[in-house]
This record gives sequence, C-alpha cells and structure tokens, in this order.
Amino acid sequence: MARKDRRPVWLLAAALLGTVAMISAQSQQPNLGYDDTPFQPDGKWRVHDVRRPAPQSVTPGLFVSAPPPKDAVILLGDGADLSGWQTDAGAPAPWPMAAGVLQTGKGIIRTKAEFSDIQLHVEFATPSTVVGSSQDRGNSGVFLSGVFEIQVLDSFENPTYADGQASAMYGQYPPLVNASRRPGEWQSYDIAFTAPRFNSAGELSSPAVVTAFHNGVLVHHARSFWGGTAHRRILPYKPDMARGPIRLQDHGNPVRYRNIWLRSLISDK
Ligand code: MG
Repeated sequence: MARKDRRPVWLLAAALLGTVAMISAQSQQPNLGYDDTPFQPDGKWRVHDVRRPAPQSVTPGLFVSAPPPKDAVILLGDGADLSGWQTDAGAPAPWPMAAGVLQTGKGIIRTKAEFSDIQLHVEFATPSTVVGSSQDRGNSGVFLSGVFEIQVLDSFENPTYADGQASAMYGQYPPLVNASRRPGEWQSYDIAFTAPRFNSAGELSSPAVVTAFHNGVLVHHARSFWGGTAHRRILPYKPDMARGPIRLQDHGNPVRYRNIWLRSLISDK
C-alpha cells in the first residue's frame, strides 16, 4: 500500500524523536507537589501541597559527631554488626555494611527491638555524585515507632514539595528551616520523640510529638504528627503505633548511615 503522507521519512522520524524527547523532558521535571491530595486536619495545606512555601536555607555550623552516652542503645556503631536489624518480614538485614558505615540496600530494614519515647541520634550522607532530582535524589527516611517518618533526602539546592524535603515530618510538616549540607557530607539528626498514647478503648489520648535538630539546627519544636506517614495521605492513628522499631527506608537511592544510637526515655521493662 502506498504511503499517503508525502513528507520525507527523515522528517517524520525527526518529528517522532522530538515528541519522545518532549515527553521524556516532562517526565524528568522535579515533582514539586500535588493539588489533588487530601487536606491535613487543620485545613491549611494539602498533603505534599504544591503551594506550600519551602523553608529558608540556613548553613549549619561545622559537623560535630555525637558519640553515644553510656546509657545509649547502640544501633549502628564502630565494630557493631547488623544483628540488631532485620527486614520487616524477619529476614536478616540485607544492606551492605563496612567499617561501621551502612549503605541502603534492597527493602526497608528495622530494629528487632521496639521502643516508645526515645532520644535518637542518626548520622547520614546522601551520594556525593548527584543523580536525579526532587524525591529521587538521596531519598531514604528514619521511621519512629515504625510509622512516623523523618525524611532523609538530598535537599541541598534540590527543590521538592515542602513537606517532603530533608528532616520534614514527611507529608505533614516541612522543617522550620532547611539546614542541609552539601551532597556527600555527613549530616546529623537529633530527635526527641514522644510516642502516641491510647486509652483502654484504643482511642488516641495524645499524639506522637517530635522535637528535632538537623545538623544542630532546630527544625521541629514539639510538633504533633497528624497520624502515621504515607505517600499522598495520612494514616489514621492505631493503638499499635504506641511503640515500634526504628525503621530505615530504601527508596532506591544509595544513602549511607553511621553512628545511630538511642536512649529510651521511659522504662521499657
Ligand atoms: Mg523518604
């Protein structure tokens, strides 16, 4: 059958390539948020609201590591192995570790032990070679009580939705300021976490509350979680959120962790 379109084949091919390039450029636009997600309970912002302003950037002071105090539970440290960690399914934690530095691998890992109110110290580094943008750049996360995520992301000159950037209470609150260091540099989170409480009927009596410092800079001051962390929504509170493991997220980006310790703030006997 004769070709009816009289344009030369090379012109058609060029047009097709142009369309493919346009679609691929669109798919590489950074995700700056959503306008179709549910509103948070106070009605101010949607989850991952595209209109929510990004916090100001603040250059933190020099990095200072925080060695564990004597009463700390050491989750990741010099000479420690991964015997205190496992997958959610209970298999050995499959992430590679060398010389006390752990790198994200396949699937989320969690501590075998569970906790409620804690002080937590975490050191992490996103890749020094920048790959991807927005939520695809150095993404991981630290989950408190198993379900409340403090976001880990390379947020150094990396626009994304405000409640999804580094140290955000993911999907709920942006940090007060963006205290991120450059890609590849070690950074720290210091977190005081009060687990939620439930009455004997299983109803929420007080929400999870977090105070957090990113590289020594206050980013959350006694803020309550609306509920558990999820993408594009908020999980309703459930009594089993009252205690849980520390979980580290695999988001497909290589992120390193070291020197993770916590202090239990109430007797867990
Ligand atoms: Mg994350």
